[in-house]
Formats: sequence, structure tokens, C-alpha cells
Amino acid sequence: MECFDVTIIGGGPAGMYSAFYSGMRDMKTKLIEANEVLGGRMLHYPEKMIWDVGGVTPMPCEKLIGQLEQQARTFDPEIILGEQVTHLSLQEDGTYILTTASGEQHWTKTVIMAVGYGMIKPAKLEIEGAERFEVTNLHYTVQELEVFRGKHVLISGGGDSAVDWANELEPVAGSVTIVHRRNEFGGHERNVVRMKESSVQVHTPYKVEKLHSADGETISQVTVAHMESGETMFFDVDAVIVNHGMKSDFGPVRNWGIKMGEWTAEVDEQLQTALPGVFGAGDYIDYTNKVRLIAGTFTDAVQAVNGAKRFIEPEADQYAMVSSHNNRFKEKNRALGAAEE
Ligand SMILES: Cc1cc2nc3c(=O)[nH]c(=O)nc-3n(C[C@H](O)[C@H](O)[C@H](O)COP(=O)(O)OP(=O)(O)OC[C@H]3O[C@@H](n4cnc5c(N)ncnc54)[C@H](O)[C@@H]3O)c2cc1C
Repeated sequence: MECFDVTIIGGGPAGMYSAFYSGMRDMKTKLIEANEVLGGRMLHYPEKMIWDVGGVTPMPCEKLIGQLEQQARTFDPEIILGEQVTHLSLQEDGTYILTTASGEQHWTKTVIMAVGYGMIKPAKLEIEGAERFEVTNLHYTVQELEVFRGKHVLISGGGDSAVDWANELEPVAGSVTIVHRRNEFGGHERNVVRMKESSVQVHTPYKVEKLHSADGETISQVTVAHMESGETMFFDVDAVIVNHGMKSDFGPVRNWGIKMGEWTAEVDEQLQTALPGVFGAGDYIDYTNKVRLIAGTFTDAVQAVNGAKRFIEPEADQYAMVSSHNNRFKEKNRALGAAEE
């Protein structure tokens, strides 16, 4: 097993920028992300315009994710997707072995925890046995609108995503019904008005109470109940979409010996956690005046990488040579120049 200088856990903006910057510091770098794609929390608002990242003119978040990924890959770090790191164990020689949920092991001199608020999963429908329909027609995300063409769809939820999907599906589906436990919707006002003025059937304050199946495999009917009176209604459906928000979960990370509050970890001035050689960056960490923005993750990444570099080589410079005068970019600049000619 090959020992890496630094292994970054998490592929949100903090992890992606750490991967770039550790390349600038000539460190052998690995990044492990639990999701199948990079992006972290930014994946939850891909179509939203981002205005508040320095030097970036307004662009949809998904485009910024693409640019961050491209930058992260500049120095060819090893990037492993779809693997949740579940164990961290300190070896006698001061290195760490990280183990993932599938049993894969990764050996590293230092670690950067860029895990945000942990693994982000959709909040599930709290109805016994509902999970068996997840393989057929109970959906927590919409991957492709075409899947719902001509179908009778019931959406449960009242936030941005629920309202957005009701509007997107309205011209495609056979019918769209939305039930929400409150009378007010949390989505953008313009989208809520658009939904209410369309053919979407809106029922509030109602909640999904029971799922019925004619064939034992798919949901064929849904019972919804009024939040106060308990009065029920029945809807024949082809598909149910649940948008009850997202839940964050650190899972076993909490047991690794890092000092953590409910949502964040304590770090010192070098952004090192309570574990030697384990640094933190991004939303995962807390310190005075911490900036909880994409921009804030970048400065954390620089600090954490510099901490990791000096943990391995105490005599190393505190910072990497600035990119404008850094020899690591000589070849790359030449290639860029040639491409422009
Ligand atoms: C709706 C919304 C809108 C926002 N809008 C803006 C905005 O306009 N501008 C702005 O600057 N900021 C915005 N933010 C904040 C910004 O998205 C976060 O500050 C940023 O994503 C934090 O980045 P991060 O890399 O620290 O963590 P995250 O983006 O949360 O990434 C953490 C990653 O770690 C992975 N992970 C967790 N545990 C493990 C594990 N054990 N093993 C492997 N991988 C793991 C997760 O899967 C995740 O991909 C917004 C946030 C939200 C929720």
C-alpha cells in the first residue's frame, strides 16, 4: 500500500481547493468523497447563480463546481468517488490508515477533514415500510423529467425543491398534486405563485399518512390527512416524490477522537484538530470569525495544506510560492500560451 503525503476527506469546495493547493506544495495527494460526484453541498443548488466568490462573475453553481473540479485536478491527485471514510487509525510511526465503508484501506502521513456537516442525505418519509418502494416509484430526487411523462405524480414537501419540481413537472406529468404540512410554502415567492396559478393541485395543511400498493411492489394510492382535523383524502398515483429537506450525519467520524461540538470541530491556529497531523477546512471547523462561505473554504484549505506540509517537513516554507512566480506552473503556462497562439 502506497503512503500519501495528504489524504483529503470530502470533495466539496474545501476538499477540491485543498487538492489543488497541496499540488502546489508538491505533496502526493489523495481525495476521497462519499458521493459519486464532487461538489459537496453545492450539488444541492446547482442551478442557483453564485455572485459572492471573489473574481467569479455570476455563474450557475454547477458551472463553478466544474471549474473547481478542473482546478482540483491540475496536479493529478488521486480522486476516489463513492467511498465513505468510516475509520481512522493512528499507526505507531505516526501515519494514519483510513478505512472506507467498502473495506478499502488508504495510508497517509496527514489528513485534511473537509467533510462539511457530514454526509448529506434526503430526509426520508417516516412511514413504516416506505423504503421498499424506493426501488420502484418512491423518489427522493428527480434525475430525469421524462420518467414522469404522462404520470400522476404526488409531491410531499413545501420547500424550494418541492415547489421547483412541481413547476418543472407540471407540463410533463399527467397531473401533479402537492401536499404540505403548513399553509405557507418555503420556496421563492415567484415560484410559489407560478405553481398556484398552474394546474398543480395544492393541498395544505396535509401530510402523507399511508401508502397503498395494488401489486405489492409499487405505490398505487396515497392517503393524505389534514394536519388539524385528521380528515383524509385519497389520490391514485403513478409516482410519489418526497422533498422533506436534507439531513446531515457525521456517522463514525464522531468516534475518531477529534474534539467536536454538535456540528463543528475545534482546531488550533494551524487548523490542526486534536489529532496530530489531522487538519480541518471548510464548514467542518470552527474558529473566531470563521467565514461560512465558499470563499471561506479556500483560505481554510490553504492553511490546512500548509499545516500538513509543515507537519511532514517542519523546515518547509510557511506558504507555497505564489502562482505567478511558481516554477511548478512553467510548463503549464507554456502549454496555455501555445494553445492561445
Ligand atoms: C442552499 C445553500 C445555498 C448556499 N449558497 C451559497 C452561496 O451562494 N455562496 C457561498 O459562498 N456559499 C453558499 N452556501 C454555503 C456553501 O455551500 C458551503 O459553505 C460550502 O459548501 C462548504 O464547503 P465544504 O467543502 O466545507 O463542505 P461541503 O460542501 O458540505 O462538502 C463536504 C463533503 O464531504 C463529504 N463527506 C462527508 N463525510 C464524509 C466521509 N466520512 N467520507 C467521505 N466523504 C465525506 C460529503 O459527501 C460532502 O461532499 C450555501 C449553502 C446552502 C446549503
